[in-house]
Amino acid sequence: GISFAGKVVLVTGAASGIGRAVALAFGRAGASVVVADIAIDGGHSTAAMIVENGGKALFVAANVTRAQEVAALVEKTVHHYGRLDCAVNSAGLSEEGTILAELDEEVYDRIMDVNVKGVWLSMKYQLRQMTSQGSGAIVNLSSALGLVGAPAQGVYAASKHALAGLTKSAALEHAKEGIRINALCPGAVRTPMLARAIGREPAMEKKLRAAHPMGRFAEPAEIANAVLWLCSEQASFVTGHELSVDGGFTAI
Ligand code: NAD
Repeated sequence: GISFAGKVVLVTGAASGIGRAVALAFGRAGASVVVADIAIDGGHSTAAMIVENGGKALFVAANVTRAQEVAALVEKTVHHYGRLDCAVNSAGLSEEGTILAELDEEVYDRIMDVNVKGVWLSMKYQLRQMTSQGSGAIVNLSSALGLVGAPAQGVYAASKHALAGLTKSAALEHAKEGIRINALCPGAVRTPMLARAIGREPAMEKKLRAAHPMGRFAEPAEIANAVLWLCSEQASFVTGHELSVDGGFTAI
C-alpha cells in the first residue's frame, strides 16, 4: 500500500462506517490520525483500534456544524501533531425516505446543515492551516447521489450535489498553493448508515443491490482505498475531481 509515514491526517465522521475505515487505513499506512466525530464512544473505539494496531491516533469530539468546534479541532490537530497534511470529511447524514412534496422542513435543515455547512466549515479551517503550510489534500465524501437524482432522498441528493460546487470552487481557489481538493462519490456502502436506511424500508435492499451492475454493495475498505489514493502523491495532478467508486451505479 501507499505510505503515509510522517503525515498528519484528520478524518471527520470517523466513529463509524466509511470514516472509521479511512482512519484505520491511514493508521496502517503510518499516518498520525485525528479521529473526529460527535459520537464519543465510537470515536474513542476507532482511535483505540488504530493504537492497538501499532499506529498513532487521537480522538477529538467535534460537531462539524459548529464553527468554534471545527476551529478547535484543527487547532488541537496542529498542537498535537504539528501540521495537517490530509483531511477527509466523512461526517454526514441521510435520513429521509420521503418524497420532497411530503418532507418536513426540520429534516431539510438537519441534512443540509451537516452535509453542506459541515463540509464547508471543515474545509474553511483545514484550508487555513494548509495554506499556511503551502501543501495539503482534502477529500469530501459525496455520493453517487451527488451525480444523479434520487426519489425519496431528494435533499440528500441536493446536499451531495452542493458538495461538487464547494469542492470544485475550493480546488480552484487553492490550486496555485499545491493544495488538492477532490470529492469521492461512492455507491451503496455496507455501513451503519446503509443498515439504518434498509431498516426503514427493507424492500429497498434488493432494488438497491440491483441498481449496482456489480450486484453488490461496497465494503468500507474499498472506499478507503480510493480516499488514500486521492490523498497520496500518486494523485499529484488530480484536483477538483468527482471520483465515482460505485460498482457501475452511475454508468447505467
Ligand atoms: P455512518 O452513519 O456510518 O457514519 C457517519 C458518521 O458521521 C457517524 O459516526 C456520525 O456520528 C458522524 N456525524 C454525523 N453528524 C455529525 C456532526 N454534526 N459532526 C460530526 N460528526 C457527525 O455513515 P457512512 O455510511 O460511514 O457515511 C459516511 C459519509 O459517506 C457520509 O457523508 C455519507 O453521506 C457518505 N456516503 C455513504 C454511503 C453509504 O452507502 N453508506 C454512500 C455514499 C456516500
